[in-house]
Amino acid sequence: MFDKVLIANRGEIALRVQRACKELGIATVAVHSTADADAMHVRLADESVCIGPPVAGQSYLNIPSLLAACEITGADAIHPGYGFLSENARFAEILEDHGITFIGPSAQHIRLMGDKIKAKETVGRLGIPVVPGSDGAVTSDAEAHKLAEGIGFPVLVKASAGGGGRGMKLARRAQDLPEALATARAEAKAAFGDDALYIEKYLATPRHIEVQVIGDGAGRAIHLGERDCSLQRRHQKVWEEAPSPALNEEQRGKLGNVVASAIGDLGYRGVGTIEFLYENGEFYFIEMNTRLQVEHPVTEMITGLDLVIEQIRIAAGGGLSFAQSDVTFAGHAIECRINAEDPKTFAPSPGKISYFHPPGGLGVRVDSGVYQGYTIPPYYDSLIGKLIVHGKNRNECLMRLKRALGEFVIDGIKTTIPLFSSLIAEQDIANGIYDIHWLENYLETS
Ligand code: ADP
Repeated sequence: MFDKVLIANRGEIALRVQRACKELGIATVAVHSTADADAMHVRLADESVCIGPPVAGQSYLNIPSLLAACEITGADAIHPGYGFLSENARFAEILEDHGITFIGPSAQHIRLMGDKIKAKETVGRLGIPVVPGSDGAVTSDAEAHKLAEGIGFPVLVKASAGGGGRGMKLARRAQDLPEALATARAEAKAAFGDDALYIEKYLATPRHIEVQVIGDGAGRAIHLGERDCSLQRRHQKVWEEAPSPALNEEQRGKLGNVVASAIGDLGYRGVGTIEFLYENGEFYFIEMNTRLQVEHPVTEMITGLDLVIEQIRIAAGGGLSFAQSDVTFAGHAIECRINAEDPKTFAPSPGKISYFHPPGGLGVRVDSGVYQGYTIPPYYDSLIGKLIVHGKNRNECLMRLKRALGEFVIDGIKTTIPLFSSLIAEQDIANGIYDIHWLENYLETS
């Protein structure tokens, strides 16, 4: 096992990783920008190192500074959290070259899944269902037209290097295709320096369903069920739940086993998520995330497993500590992402938290990096915490969530808590009937 882990992140996820390290008896090193000197993850770590100015490119993304921080503190591994360097294959390689363990998959797998065309080809070969579309990149507009006619409009033009919805354009009819190709190409080139595009059938009313997997890197992988993350705004997840209200046990087991077997065959190491769109009883792979995800706690709540502890154990060479038959799913969990944003306009709302009272009680978990008197800096994403609630069934979970939201007080800044209180009152939410467009439609009409 590691003696000391450096956590190359900030906010709630830095604290989350620290908690796992502490339970494993591992010393923790926090890193921070000058804007984060007072952050909770710095206060609670065993040691901390300032790695640069506020802008992330010079601090949380600054690889030489992170290496120097390992050198100074003697950390033998880095946990990247999510975002920042968590899916940077080069970073994983550099750490390996310096004898520091990257707590995550191999650089080869990060790179493979970061290239969406290769990822789709690979998982398709391993038996995972994919969205009908082009085989590989489209090389000319004429080829794109021919393919799109074959698939049938509407089609989605996507960037192979895409992420965060960038480089993705919808062509409803044939006459929309030239512009969709041109704008997607320009966006992809500007954002990723890679303008390879591919085409997919556009699914009109899918749900977003993702499967959590964990592999030992030696051919064994286990699935931990699915999460339903269909409630999204601008492709950003807002509310996640496990299990999905749309699946039954048979579908869950079948999908999970297909995914686990494919990921095992890939020789994947660590935690990962295979994301699908689900429509009319069919699953369509969209991408794999080769890291811990923001919404991992809902899986932890229904399985009783600590994903970060498992991640660290595997990285330290300990293998998987359980088998597929040991995994059981109990009850229902929902996570609400609490952002420092205006709940109506979603404008960021950084500033000082004058009063902070998190909810408590049975089945209520708050993963947050803030405290009363803390000033949220304006430089980073607006997620300040997650409220995760567990109940015996979905109904109990919803009742408990309503109660917990009512107790949650954050004064001094605006937060998205009121949005969740209003969502709870919606019949479609109570019934679990929503697709990936539901929230945007609701926000437009409410
Ligand atoms: P990114 O990595 O840019 O976030 P994804 O491939 O994960 O791109 O897709 C992001 C979101 O775009 C999905 O969650 C879904 O809402 C939508 N999307 C992606 N592919 C399709 C598709 N074929 N049909 C309809 N919507 C899609």
